Amino acid sequence: MTEKERGKKILGINNEVIERCVRCGSCRTVCPVFNVTHEEPSVARGKIFLANMINQGKVELDKEAAEFFNLCTTCLRCAEICPVMVDYEKIIISARALAVEKFGLPPEKKAAVMLFSNRNLLETAGKITAPLTKLFTKSSKSPQNRLLLINVPRLGKVLLPEIKSKPFNDKDRWYRAKGAEKGKAVFFAGCMFNNFYTETAMNVVKVLNALGYSVFVPRDQHCCGAPAFFSGDLKTFEKMKEKNLKTLQKLDVDFVVTACATCGHILKKEYRELPYESRELIEVLFENIEEVGKWKFPKKIRVTWHHPCHIVRGQKIPRNYPLDVLKVVGNVEFTSLEEADNCCGMGGSFKLSHPEISREIQIKKAKNIEKTKSDAVLTECPGCVMNIAEGLERIDSSIQSFHIADLLVKCIE
Ligand code: SF4
Ligand code: SF4
Repeated sequence: MTEKERGKKILGINNEVIERCVRCGSCRTVCPVFNVTHEEPSVARGKIFLANMINQGKVELDKEAAEFFNLCTTCLRCAEICPVMVDYEKIIISARALAVEKFGLPPEKKAAVMLFSNRNLLETAGKITAPLTKLFTKSSKSPQNRLLLINVPRLGKVLLPEIKSKPFNDKDRWYRAKGAEKGKAVFFAGCMFNNFYTETAMNVVKVLNALGYSVFVPRDQHCCGAPAFFSGDLKTFEKMKEKNLKTLQKLDVDFVVTACATCGHILKKEYRELPYESRELIEVLFENIEEVGKWKFPKKIRVTWHHPCHIVRGQKIPRNYPLDVLKVVGNVEFTSLEEADNCCGMGGSFKLSHPEISREIQIKKAKNIEKTKSDAVLTECPGCVMNIAEGLERIDSSIQSFHIADLLVKCIE
């Protein structure tokens, strides 16, 4: 085969990327979706085979084939175990992008992309619905989350994060470091923090300030584009990226900090034009572990940790970082979690498009957490916080789910 023939074909990616798969099946042993369905199209090997056929023009990408490419949480466990290091994310996003070009976004993904890519729409929704929230929800065991008053058919208990009437980034603000300034950071909060978990967002800032970093929160920040990117709507993604880069590129700071695994993954991998480094909160905490070691939680607390997919595999942040950090905080007893790095089942809009499969993965996660007999499960992704909180409610667990910043802030106040 000539070099030209091996070049880009229908999916817009080089054949070699797809042909790398040796069909060993190792990905079947780790895929959370395959673990539920036990069907080949659920797993990377099946999808890559189909992508190869499409790329060679032997099979047409029809609606049924497009559906197979959506049957995936993009947890990247397959890519991590793959002996030949297949670039699975590239293949799945290219296949989804072709499907979106041909058929448009499926309704649930269209709704999610439309809401999250339009800041005004999200903020208006917050203004209108926030005062009415108590009419149709009740409080959940996990803070900043609410449970719908009625169980939804096929889903049972449904948990939602509290939407806020005023966004976290309502105007440009500097929050100054406590004591000597070690550096300046811009906080790219993302939609979940700006519009839902605003208290956690503030806690992230307080923790960074306590470590000696001044933090700038710009009003002009938009969704990082992850919902569009992972759905294959690359045009919308590029628009979001362009808008955010316009703000980020003109700032005189040392780094951009994220506290949402998916925002961090997208910024590190896709915002290559950033003039400074993108760092996840957990990386900053680990770098300052001596300082964190002086902190003490007000009372004894037993915690466990869930590794978000987009931190350990998306950003390849070592798994020991959060564990080492938690182990040095006074009054915190760390207990390990079985399959701590398995997906929580959320997978962005996967939860909406495949609710039954998503729920099975979620319940498995919640049951593993319940076995730890912890007071709380911590993580560093608002999506995981929410989905795990829902899973814990569904199995009637008393364990709370919250962000690591929510625990650390109590050590410094
Ligand atoms: S682990 Fe990698 S090489 Fe093996 S079947 Fe899966 S994608 Fe292909
Ligand atoms: S990304 Fe996760 S869900 Fe998707 S095929 Fe790979 S292991 Fe399965």
